[in-house]
Amino acid sequence: MTQFERLFSPIKIGAMEVKNRIVMSPMHTDYGNRDGTVSDRLREYHVARAKGGVGLITLEMCTVSEFEPYMAKTIGLWHDKFLPGLRELTSEVHKHGAKIIPQMAHPGPESLSPYFYGTDTMGPSPVMCHTTKKMCQEMSIEQIQATVVEFGEAARRAREAGFDGIELHAAHSYMLVGSFLSGLRNRRSDRYGGTIEARLQLALEIIQSVHQRAGADFPIVMRISGDEYMPGGRTLRETQFIAPILADAGIASFHVSAGVYPHTSWRVMPPTGSPLGSNVDLSAGIKKVVDVPVMVVGRINDPLFAEDVLRNGEADMVVLGRALIADPEFALKAQQGRLHDIAPCIGCGQGCIGRKPGAAMSCLVNPSVGKEVEMAVEATARRKKVMVVGGGPAGLEAARIAALRGHDVHLYERDGKVGGQFNLGAIAPRKHELGKLINFQTVQLEKAGGTLHLGIEVTPELVSEFAPDTVVMATGGEPVRPPIPGISGKNVYLAHDILAGKVVQPYGNTIVIGGGLVGCEVAECMANLGDNPMIARTKITILEMLDQFGKEMIVETRTLTMHDFRELGIDVLTSTKVVDILERGVVVEDKKGNQRTIDDVDNIIVAIGVRPYDVLSDKIKAAVPEVHVIGDAKQARSALEAIREGAEIGRSI
Ligand code: SF4
Repeated sequence: MTQFERLFSPIKIGAMEVKNRIVMSPMHTDYGNRDGTVSDRLREYHVARAKGGVGLITLEMCTVSEFEPYMAKTIGLWHDKFLPGLRELTSEVHKHGAKIIPQMAHPGPESLSPYFYGTDTMGPSPVMCHTTKKMCQEMSIEQIQATVVEFGEAARRAREAGFDGIELHAAHSYMLVGSFLSGLRNRRSDRYGGTIEARLQLALEIIQSVHQRAGADFPIVMRISGDEYMPGGRTLRETQFIAPILADAGIASFHVSAGVYPHTSWRVMPPTGSPLGSNVDLSAGIKKVVDVPVMVVGRINDPLFAEDVLRNGEADMVVLGRALIADPEFALKAQQGRLHDIAPCIGCGQGCIGRKPGAAMSCLVNPSVGKEVEMAVEATARRKKVMVVGGGPAGLEAARIAALRGHDVHLYERDGKVGGQFNLGAIAPRKHELGKLINFQTVQLEKAGGTLHLGIEVTPELVSEFAPDTVVMATGGEPVRPPIPGISGKNVYLAHDILAGKVVQPYGNTIVIGGGLVGCEVAECMANLGDNPMIARTKITILEMLDQFGKEMIVETRTLTMHDFRELGIDVLTSTKVVDILERGVVVEDKKGNQRTIDDVDNIIVAIGVRPYDVLSDKIKAAVPEVHVIGDAKQARSALEAIREGAEIGRSI
C-alpha cells in the first residue's frame, strides 16, 4: 500500500471519472473580466492547478442570471456569448488530465444588483443581505419558475463549453438556493417553504431543469452545509433526512461544508489554528445515508490528513481551497512524496478571504498566485553573490527566490534562528501554523543552495569582507514606545520582549496598550484566571484607541478571538487612549476627551506596533553595487506586503 493509495485512486461522479480524490473548491478570485468573460489570468490560474495534479477543479461562482452579479467580476453563464472563453478554459484544463465544473448559482439576497443596476435583490422571503445591508424582495412564483429555467440553460451552456458537470451552490443559508433550503431565511408558506420538504422544492426543480436541458447524465454536485450550527438552522440529522431525497432526484455528489454566512463564517472558512478537517464528522454523517460520493471541505491542507479522512471512510473526496492557492502543485508534490516542498497555507486569510472588496485574490505564502506566468521563476543570466540581512519571512522569501534562480545566496540572521516577528506570532494560542511558513522557506532556501548564517550581526566590515554584488536589507522593525508620561517605568514591558521570552512574564492585573495583532497575541499568552492554584492569576484588559480591536484580523479570526477573550476573561476597551502611566494605574481618555484613572494595575504591556529598523544600508551603499531595503525595514506593514516585496526583489536581482 502506497502512502497515498486512496488519495490518488480514481473515482466516478455519475458519468465523470476523476483521476484522484483531490477537488479544488470554488473560490472567487476577481481575476475574470468585468464583462463576465474568462480572462487569460483566470485561465492561467486554473491551468497551473490542473498541471499541479488536481483531479477536479471547481470554477468560482458563475451567475445564471444577467442582472444578478455576485461580485464585480462574476463569471457569466447566462448567455452563449460566454462560450468561447469558457471552452478555451475547459480545453486547457483537460490537457492536463483534470476535470472541471463551474459552480452555478443565483446570488439571490447576496446579489450586487442594487449597486450595479439599482434593482432590488430577490430571495425566498424578505431577509437582509449582509453585504449590501438591504432587504431582498420575496420572489413570486413566476420569478422562481423563470430562475429555474435560467439554471437549466446555464447548465446546457456549461455542457456545450466542455465542462464535465456542474456544482450547485446550496450551502451556508446563502445565495438563492442556500436561502430557500434553510429555515433561517425561508419563511414562505407556499409550496416552496413552510416544511423541510417544501424548502427542497426549488432545488428539486433546478435539478429537473438541468437534466432536461443539459442531459440527465450531466453530473450535478451539490454544495451543502451538513449542519448550519445556528439556532433554528438545519442540523446534521435534518441534512441526513434531505440528502437521500436530493440524491434520488439526481444529485451525483455532495460537497459538505458547514455553517451559515456570516454568523458562523469561521465554520465556512476556518481561519488559522482551526482543527484540521473541521467538517469530517458531517461528511461521515452524510455518507451513512447516501450511495453517491461525498466530498468534504474545511481546513484540509495536509495530504497525510487527507489520506486519513479517506481511509477512515469519512469522505470519498477531499476539497481543498486555500491549500491550492498557496501551492498549485500540492497534489503533484504529495504524489511524488515531496511533502516538505508543499508551500503551506497558514489560514491567515490576508490575501484571499480577508482581502479588500474588489481587490484581486493574492496570497501571503504564494505571491505569484494569479501571476503564474509573469512571476514564473526564471534562471538568472549572471550569477551574483547575494547577501540577505535578516531572516524574517520577507528576507527568507527574497533569499529563496534568488537561490532558486541560481544566485549564490547567503542569509544572515542575528538571532539563533530565522523567523523574526513570525516566531513571536506563532507563540500565541492557535497561531502555531505560522511557523510552517518559516519552516518551508528555510528548507526550500537550503535545498536551492542558499546558506544560512545564524547568530551573526552584520556590520559594514562584514559586508566589506564578504564583497557581495547585492545586499537585501530585511532587518524588520523594532517595537515602538509611545511618548506617554511614565512609559519608562519599571512596571512597563514591551509585548515583543514578553513573547520572545526576553523578560520574565509578569502576573497580576495587566493593561495591554494596543489591541492590534501583537496586543491580542500577548494578551492570550498571558491571560490566566487563576483557577489552578499553581498558576498566578493574570487579569488582562486591552486598551485600544480605535473603535475596534484587531482591525487587521479577518472577520473569522476576530470572531474566534472574541470567543477566546470571553473564555480567558480578557476585557477590551475600544476608543480608549492612554495619556499617562502611573505607578499603580493608567489615565485614559475617551473620544470626547473625558479622562479617568484605571487603578490597581500591576503591569503595563506596550503593543502599539513597530517602526523600520535599518541601521546598515546607508553605511554600505557606497561599497555595494546594489542595495535593496524591503519589508518592515523599509516601512512597517502587513506580512502579505512584506513577503510580496521579498518575492519581487528575489526575481529582480
Ligand atoms: Fe492561505 Fe493566507 Fe494564502 Fe489565504 S492568504 S491561501 S489563508 S496562506
